[in-house]
Amino acid sequence: MSLYRDDGVVLRTLRLGEADRIVTLMTKGHGKVRAVAKGVRRTKSKFGGRLEPLSHVALLCWQGRELDIVNQAEVQDTFRAVREDLARVAKAYTLLEVVDQLAQERHANSRLYDTLLGALHALEDDDPPLLVPAFCLKVLALEGSTPVLGECVSCGAAADLVAFDLVEGGVLCRSCRRGRAVSAGALELVRRILGGGLASALAEPPGPFTTEVTDLATEAMEVHLDRRLRSLRSSPTA
Ligand SMILES: [Zn+2]
Repeated sequence: MSLYRDDGVVLRTLRLGEADRIVTLMTKGHGKVRAVAKGVRRTKSKFGGRLEPLSHVALLCWQGRELDIVNQAEVQDTFRAVREDLARVAKAYTLLEVVDQLAQERHANSRLYDTLLGALHALEDDDPPLLVPAFCLKVLALEGSTPVLGECVSCGAAADLVAFDLVEGGVLCRSCRRGRAVSAGALELVRRILGGGLASALAEPPGPFTTEVTDLATEAMEVHLDRRLRSLRSSPTA
């Protein structure tokens, strides 16, 4: 077996036997990795509490056939402010869930990794209303699923864009309208998120447009993943 170093964020953990855990991580250089942390559930474990979901760690692992083995783990960041705030924890878990669904095992995707880490740091500093939706839209763009936003996806009209349809893949004008209604304010926010204005979008206070963008981005991600995001929905929907 060969030994490798990498940086990773713990996505989830699963009990294994009496004292061990299988830790699923998103790493910078090896994509999604599942590794056994031996003795991690013992009180005197050399890993302490370092391999909990959300932790950013520097790893030394043995590469195995299916599961790797964690040899060392050093904490880079625990995201303490996130952990101490239930609302932010829920958001962070949504990011982890999305990455867990999208990342492929042992297939490096450093842009997805960097996007996750950037979002976690932004969440550690603050609680921007558009953090999760912006993350979802950015990640969809990385996946090559950027919605068409500049013109009607059906007829090409550039004005009077009033609807958004995920099946069509973007916005629609008044005569082609289909899918959900979308306001000009929400569209402007989505364009900012995807067009280099992320920081200003994240500084946006909560309001009807941020709610609209949240619904739209959630739906877009759910359609892409073909499943509902457990941690994202604060209230049950019909
Ligand atoms: Zn049209």
